[in-house]
Amino acid sequence: MFNLVIFGPPGSGKGTQSENIIAKYGFKHLSTGDLLRAEKNSGSELGKKIKDIIDAGNLVPNELVQEMVKNNVVKNRDAKGFIFDGFPRTTDQAAWLDQMLSEIGESVTMMLALDVNDDELRVRIMERGKVSGRADDQNIDIVNNRIAVYKQQTQPVIDFYAKQNKYVSVEGVGTLDEVFGRISKAIDSAL
Ligand code: ADP
Repeated sequence: MFNLVIFGPPGSGKGTQSENIIAKYGFKHLSTGDLLRAEKNSGSELGKKIKDIIDAGNLVPNELVQEMVKNNVVKNRDAKGFIFDGFPRTTDQAAWLDQMLSEIGESVTMMLALDVNDDELRVRIMERGKVSGRADDQNIDIVNNRIAVYKQQTQPVIDFYAKQNKYVSVEGVGTLDEVFGRISKAIDSAL
C-alpha cells in the first residue's frame, strides 16, 4: 500500500491536490477535516461537542480523531493506498499512526509537505470563505489562530518524518497544474 501523508498549513491546497492525486493514482482519501465537519453537520451529540472547537480553529482531542482514522482505515483495507489529509496534526498523532499502521503490517510511505507563505495562506482562506460556508474560513482572527496552531502543534510533525527520511517538501505556490506536476514527480519517484 502507498500511504501518503499530505501535509501543510491551512489553505496550502491539501484538499484540492488530494482530488488530483485520487484521480491519477486511485488512492483513498482520508480527510479528518471532512470527517469532523460531516460529524459536526450531522447534529449528533459528538457533533455538538466539537462544533465550537472547529469553528474557533483549535484542535479536536486526539482520541476522537484517531478513532475516526482507525475506523476508516479498517473499513478500506482493500485500498491500494491512502492519502492522509489533515492528519497527523501533532507528533502524538504521528506516533499513534505509526503504531496503528504497524499493527496491520503497514507504514507511512511518504510525507509530502506543501510549502506556502503565510500571506498567501490568509488570502486563499479568506477567498475560500466566500464560498465554503466554513465559519473558520470567514474571520481573520480565526484564520490567524489556525496558522498559529499549525506552527505550534503541527509543524513539529515535519521533524518526526524527516528523522525517518520520509519528508518531501514541494513548492505549493503556482498554478494548480504546476503544483500537481511537482507532487506527481515526488510520488512517482517513490512508487
Ligand atoms: P485546514 O487544513 O483548512 O485547516 P481541515 O479541514 O484540515 O482544514 O481542518 C479543519 C478543522 O478540523 C481544524 O481546524 C480542527 O479543528 C479540526 N481537525 C482536522 N483534523 C484534525 C486533527 N488531525 N486533529 C485535531 N483536529 C483536527
